[in-house]
Amino acid sequence: MHEMSIAVELIRRLEELAVEHGLLRVEAFTVRAGVLRGIVPEALDMAFEEAARGTVAEGAKLTLEITPARARCRLCNEPFAPTVDSYLCPRCNQADVEIVEGNEILLLSLEGASTNED
Ligand SMILES: [Zn+2]
Repeated sequence: MHEMSIAVELIRRLEELAVEHGLLRVEAFTVRAGVLRGIVPEALDMAFEEAARGTVAEGAKLTLEITPARARCRLCNEPFAPTVDSYLCPRCNQADVEIVEGNEILLLSLEGASTNED
C-alpha cells in the first residue's frame, strides 16, 4: 500500500516543521492531494496512525483534501479533467497529455503545541 510511503514522507516533513517552529507535538494538519495519486483516505489514516507512533505527530488529526485533476492535450490543446483510469483527450481521443494538476501532495497547514507558552 503506497499510503504508507506517503505517511512516512508527511511525518518527515511534519518533524522538520515542528523543529522549525519549536513545537513539542503536532496536533492537527491538513494535506491537499491530487486525485491522480489515488489515495484511499482510510488507508492513509491507518498508515499515518501507525507510522506516527513515537514521533512528534503521534495522535495528530489528519484532514485530507482531494483536488480534481486538470490536464491539457499536447496535440490539440484541449483542457480537460483526466481520471486515474483514463488520460484520453475528449476531443481527439489521444493520450498525449500534460498533467497540469492532480499529482501534487501539499502540506497546507499545521497546528501544534510548543513547550514555552510565551
Ligand atoms: Zn486532444
